[in-house]
Amino acid sequence: MTTIIPIPAFRDNYIWAVRSGRFAAVVDPGDAAPVLAWLAENDVRLSAIIATHHHADHVGGIETLRVRHDVPVFGPAHETIPERTRALVEDDRIEVPGVGLSLAVLDIPGHTAGHIAYYTSGADPLLFCGDTLFAAGCGRLFEGTPGEMWSSLSKLAALPPATRVYCGHEYTLANLRFAEAVEPANAEVRARVARERDKRERGLPTLPTTIGEELATNPFLRAARPDVMASAARHAGRPVTGPVDAFATLREWKNGFQ
Ligand SMILES: [Zn+2]
Repeated sequence: MTTIIPIPAFRDNYIWAVRSGRFAAVVDPGDAAPVLAWLAENDVRLSAIIATHHHADHVGGIETLRVRHDVPVFGPAHETIPERTRALVEDDRIEVPGVGLSLAVLDIPGHTAGHIAYYTSGADPLLFCGDTLFAAGCGRLFEGTPGEMWSSLSKLAALPPATRVYCGHEYTLANLRFAEAVEPANAEVRARVARERDKRERGLPTLPTTIGEELATNPFLRAARPDVMASAARHAGRPVTGPVDAFATLREWKNGFQ
């Protein structure tokens, strides 16, 4: 059986460990120390490293991990990933050694120019999407345009609603405060705030989320809806011209949102 375990790192990162028996692959190991500690505590051997994008808080631990563990490093073809052994683009497929997991690759530029996601379909679909889609939010546009990010998010939004989404950071409560500002009348957002706050008070991660939950509560996935477009227009003080403009307006609004 495969289980997916969050290894907390830095202030609010999650390194995801995909474990099957005595082996585990890790997704986005920004720091080696918590991964090495987790492997030792659980008597597990590292079998692979998987990277979604080049930011240091996602790849900073790879070199140290590779000193002790000679394992493949999967990463995006169009970014510089330390020690990468397999360069991936959209529609590539990987078999993750040791854990019996087959993953397909999506190009999702926007947060960074070469950002990729990994997903499985089938009975129990899951998605590793780094810093592109967050619970109730999305990543900042460091290297891409709003149009690119909108199209990347739309790709993820088209995955089956039951898809479990493993993202790179615990930003959910702050994101939901923004979601409430954009859609004050959205009862699903209000209900989610209570649910996620309760998890945090019990020391639990709010992740994984699901595509279905994001479609109901994430303002960035809902930017094409008339009520969300109207809210973006009210904030901007001008009409918005379509989903990409609404998305860009929401992203700007969130950047300055306290
Ligand atoms: Zn990032």
